[in-house]
Amino acid sequence: MLLDTRALRHLAAEDWKVLAAVEAGTKNHELVPTTLIERLSRLKGGASGVHRSISTLAKANLIGRMKEAKYDGYRLTYGGLDYLALHSHSQRKHVYSVGSRIGVGKESDIMIVADDTGTQLVLKIHRLGRISFRTVKSNRDYLKKNKTGSWMHLSRLAAMKEFAFMQVLEAEGFPVPHPIANSRHTIVMALIDAPPLRQISAVPDPAALYADLIGLILRLAQHGLIHGDFNEFNVLIKESKTTTEDGEEVITMTPVLIDFPQMVSMDHLNAEMYFDRDVHCVKHFFERRFHFIPTRPGPFFKDAYKTVGRDGARRLDAAVEASGFTKKMAKELEAAIHVQEAEALAKREARGGAASEDEDEDEDEDEDEDEDEDEDEDEDEDEDEDEDEDENENENEN
Ligand code: ADP
Ligand code: MG
Repeated sequence: MLLDTRALRHLAAEDWKVLAAVEAGTKNHELVPTTLIERLSRLKGGASGVHRSISTLAKANLIGRMKEAKYDGYRLTYGGLDYLALHSHSQRKHVYSVGSRIGVGKESDIMIVADDTGTQLVLKIHRLGRISFRTVKSNRDYLKKNKTGSWMHLSRLAAMKEFAFMQVLEAEGFPVPHPIANSRHTIVMALIDAPPLRQISAVPDPAALYADLIGLILRLAQHGLIHGDFNEFNVLIKESKTTTEDGEEVITMTPVLIDFPQMVSMDHLNAEMYFDRDVHCVKHFFERRFHFIPTRPGPFFKDAYKTVGRDGARRLDAAVEASGFTKKMAKELEAAIHVQEAEALAKREARGGAASEDEDEDEDEDEDEDEDEDEDEDEDEDEDEDEDEDENENENEN
């Protein structure tokens, strides 16, 4: 499920219309009947033009058939969804060219792209449902119920949620990459030229950086939020050198937060667990990597909870809900993320347990073997799905 842009520039306007028609049909049909594609694409040339486009799109694997389907139809593939998102970003001049992939997570691909002025940006493509669900029985059942179509829907929700949070966090002055645009399951954002904390082997003043990170967790809490995945991969560290009056060189390290699909409200049922887990991640990493142990215990959830909204802090959990990412969407996404987490944990345990986790182990090691599987897991299903998702394409103009 890699991003393959080879066919991107060869598609004609009609092909894009037909691809968009398959996407539109996907809202109510897992397998979109060819007759419906004809109707939705509204091509002047009529059915023959549509069939030509269908064959072009199918050859490029942007749409696919299903085995044993009861009628003639096509479904959108992840490749097709990628193309639609890229097309929309390129029409809005946010993405002109696509460069290399800099990150592959369990739930996303991170690509470097450039806009039409040559500025490098980051394209994050959400790919929920990518990991295979072999380990946990209940997860396999969940997967059976959730076909590619709904994983795409969940990936859209993840991108929508992440983008909404990035916007409100930036507006509130939190250090996050500038969010530029959201289309479908993707986000375009500023590229931060800084490595993740995970790659930093030594810091001049661990206590100061530790205090900054805990400070961020507490500031989020004051605004009603818990990051939910606050770890050494999701904090980028910017380094800057300044010289003091006495000619001494001082290195300052400034954290930038990323990765927000799993953010939760301080009022979440399990808020305390998420809060403690974020705090623990920072502590654990500082102890392991920098041999730094804070002198004071905490911070504790009950104290942080008292600060929610204090000093007029805007409730960002409420702000995001107001932006259109509803409670229902949040619930749906949370269930999927929960299943993914459980699966990842089970896999790690199967490999020898989290405790023995090696410092330099690549967490994504077992990714490749799983990559091509999920596209085919959904065949033979052709009943309609009830998806009431709105096509939500946000854009931040500034
Ligand atoms: P995932 O959900 O897969 O963990 P992340 O958003 O955490 O996705 O991104 C994965 C990795 O990609 C990060 O650890 C970081 O190294 C890199 N990355 C993501 N966004 C940016 C960005 N805006 N600038 C620079 N690097 C980034
Ligand atoms: Mg991450």
